[in-house]
Amino acid sequence: MAEPAWEDRFAPGARVGILPLGALDRLLDYKAPEGGCAPGSFVEVPLGPRKIVGIVWGPGSGEVPEARLRAVTRILDAPPLRAPMREFLGRAADYTLTPLPAMVRLATRAPGLTEGQAMHHVYRLGPREAGRMTDARARVLAVLRDLPEKSFTLGELANRAGVGTAVIRGLVQQGAVLEVEAPRDRPYPVLDLGGPGVALTPDQMLAAAALRIGAEARTYNTTLLKGVTGSGKTEVYLEAVAETLRQGRQALVLLPEIALTGAFLSRVEARFGAPAAEWHSGMTQTERRRLWRQAAEGGASLVVGARSALFLPFRDLGLVVVDEEHDTSYKQEDGVLYNARDMAVLRASIEKAQVILASATPCLESWHNAQTGKYARLTLPARVGLAVLPTVKAVDMRLEDVPRGNWVSPTLATAVAQRLEREEQSLLFINRRGYAPVTLCRSCGHQLGCPHCDARLVEHRFMRRLMCHQCGETFPIPVACPDCGAEGKLSPVGPGVERLAEEVASLFPTARTAVLSSDLYGSARSLKEAIEQIADGAADIVIGTQLVAKGHNFPKLTLAGVIDADLGLYGSDLRAAERTFALMRQVSGRAGRADAPGEAMLQTYQPHHPVIQAILKGDDEGFWRAEADARRMAGMPPYARLCGIVLSSEDAQEAMDKAVEMARHKEPLARIGAEVWGPAPAPIARVRGRHRVRLLLKAERGSPFQDAIARWVAQFRFPSDLRLTIDIDPQSFM
Ligand code: ADP
Ligand code: ZN
Repeated sequence: MAEPAWEDRFAPGARVGILPLGALDRLLDYKAPEGGCAPGSFVEVPLGPRKIVGIVWGPGSGEVPEARLRAVTRILDAPPLRAPMREFLGRAADYTLTPLPAMVRLATRAPGLTEGQAMHHVYRLGPREAGRMTDARARVLAVLRDLPEKSFTLGELANRAGVGTAVIRGLVQQGAVLEVEAPRDRPYPVLDLGGPGVALTPDQMLAAAALRIGAEARTYNTTLLKGVTGSGKTEVYLEAVAETLRQGRQALVLLPEIALTGAFLSRVEARFGAPAAEWHSGMTQTERRRLWRQAAEGGASLVVGARSALFLPFRDLGLVVVDEEHDTSYKQEDGVLYNARDMAVLRASIEKAQVILASATPCLESWHNAQTGKYARLTLPARVGLAVLPTVKAVDMRLEDVPRGNWVSPTLATAVAQRLEREEQSLLFINRRGYAPVTLCRSCGHQLGCPHCDARLVEHRFMRRLMCHQCGETFPIPVACPDCGAEGKLSPVGPGVERLAEEVASLFPTARTAVLSSDLYGSARSLKEAIEQIADGAADIVIGTQLVAKGHNFPKLTLAGVIDADLGLYGSDLRAAERTFALMRQVSGRAGRADAPGEAMLQTYQPHHPVIQAILKGDDEGFWRAEADARRMAGMPPYARLCGIVLSSEDAQEAMDKAVEMARHKEPLARIGAEVWGPAPAPIARVRGRHRVRLLLKAERGSPFQDAIARWVAQFRFPSDLRLTIDIDPQSFM
């Protein structure tokens, strides 16, 4: 393995600090082995009677006396973590107040990474017919036929097909399946940068030129690329990708949703003659290991992935695109809490790389950074081609005659009927999974709740179960009320996507409908297929949750109806208005992408609410200015910084007592002028049987916030059953 020439090796016997990849949360001192070792190398070291794997992080701390210092056993055959990558992980750990080893684990989650490059057997479709066809054999062949470019190991193929390995070996003997010797981790196909791409519009050309200059500069810079859905942002940032690759550097495109990668990969293939490498939770272990290694060795030039792709060990990362940058899924909400958008900017500033944040509805923080000149800003003002933005109308629900238990107004229903006549698609949007958000006993008024959480149970009729959206547990639907025992009195209250589907079926019995909700699809693949079929016109009416707002392209769609535009306008959430605005704009943006003009209808009881008004007028800048003013007045982000603290315990009193103690001893925070609010029981006061208490910290921008928080927290002892979560720049306040 070539070691980086730009870093000084540690001489044999030198004291080095090893960061263990296992559960230990601190660095350990060792002696560099014979021949020395380079910083960033993966090594094996003795620990007690065991051997563990770690990374040479830097010079040792001196905590172990020279006489007791043990030597590194061997250097593993894996690409060392480069200095910029180690710096990124260190600074990300400091920023999020995460222990460094936990942060490093995000970057080393590829399996078999320490086993070195080797050959292995992979299995492909063979030239012969299987002798006797059984169900099991047919399943194996179907998997191979479905995914001809993939290389499966024996275990992976057996798993996917749901068969024992003997079935596969039998097929190999008959020649129906081929067993091939292959290097485990091959480079990815080289992209062809010579192709012309589409002829850009003048606006696109200007934007692309600016981004190309950004790539050539080989310095850090961030650009907000703002443009309505369909304005050609993707086409523009692909030009920046091409320039970055021409410079011999690598590019990463982050998407908020796995289901979007399919469409993106096809576009990359159409533009560059080969697909990008994919990184997300749906990949096989083999694919993960290959991409990890190839990212490090430069054999993967363009990677598309979920937020965790940001932790791949790129050899020379020149560009990170964060598409749909406002999307809340960029915030990792459990384990290590980080915002991939902010971490992309951090990583790029260390790698001297360019960042492109693309969105029709940027988050207020990004908009503000562009206003103040911290980010450059490029705007694509119009849709490409004939497509014009949909007209947006409010449907004033106070004036509509809607029967009880129904949710589609006559005005909206008439618009859908027109689309059916013209053979165009309609989208009905409701941001609630399941059948009904509440199940109520009509006899005693009891609402069914989760036994472990402070949350109502949501009926999922397709599944015939009740589900808790906090902990995910499901329960059978009871016949009798668990509280008063009355039978046959439980009834659903309020709409969910499944109930809306039922209403649509009775309103339009002959229409073909499709329901898009994340919980209705077993895998990312089946969801992707459903989306492709809808795009091809397999449904007349699409009924969907938030999932449909995320940048899918449905060319035949000309009507978007929002069932409850008021949902989310209120609530304790700092970003309620911003999210409603973004969501409504994104949903309306689904309509009329091709040459048929689109129309969006928002059902609302408050047509004069400022957020609804801003959406109707299409006045984005006005909305952001008003929202920014409100935040400034309230002293809220982006004009101040927040940190959420959650203490949770099975013992409610214990959590509250500790929180009170923490609020009292706030000197380290007070010293930098930070405020402490609370404690108070969290809005969702119990999850999975644990009681939750919140504190909220607020500090001025530019003050050493993390440092103060670390000092503050270090004052306390936490019993082992009490869990402390520190959430810098929180998105969720629940
Ligand atoms: P966005 O990312 O802003 O939603 P896209 O880049 O996906 O927009 O473009 C929307 C549609 O318009 C796509 O089908 C794309 O192929 C097409 N398109 C974009 N730019 C052009 C162009 N200059 N000429 C022709 N078609 C274009
Ligand atoms: Zn629950």
